[in-house]
Amino acid sequence: MRLDRIDTSNIGNAQEKFDEKVKGLTLQVLQQAQAAKPTRQIRMLFQEHDDLYKQAHAGTITPQEFKKVEKLIFDEMGATKVHTFSEFFMLLIALGISEDAARGMATHENDHVQKALQIGLDAEYALVHSRSSDGKLILHPFMMWEVPVGHDQALIRKVEELVISAPENLSKDDINKLRELKEK
Ligand SMILES: [Zn+2]
Repeated sequence: MRLDRIDTSNIGNAQEKFDEKVKGLTLQVLQQAQAAKPTRQIRMLFQEHDDLYKQAHAGTITPQEFKKVEKLIFDEMGATKVHTFSEFFMLLIALGISEDAARGMATHENDHVQKALQIGLDAEYALVHSRSSDGKLILHPFMMWEVPVGHDQALIRKVEELVISAPENLSKDDINKLRELKEK
């Protein structure tokens, strides 16, 4: 695209569009939070997703089938998905998370996402809420990515290791997943 002149009149427009989008996403996330399922159930759904991922990985289901069932699981969880770091960060801020904490969370997921994208796998940021047994709302930020498929199992394992180990500070979940990979 060739730009002959810089038209600054669109700056406000772009900001407005971004704000509108974040507002829409925030509303969606707040509605999902109100309908949050018990934490135990959300954990079971995450486990179901992990098992599904393993099936796709092993080739017992196709990547298309994986996508279809994955969507059902995330819908059941009430997940809100976004494509960019800025949207994800703004969404966390809109949920009342402090700027420092939001930056930490978004940066962590961003490290995973960027690594996946670098390798050529599609990736997104996602948020789910659950309600603990004492009634507290719990936020689960995570990223979702395309299952790497192929015949070279060693290469796939390497790809997974790269994506999971991308952030500087790994989560408990990341550490568990890396351990599982080593045991394969
Ligand atoms: Zn992580």
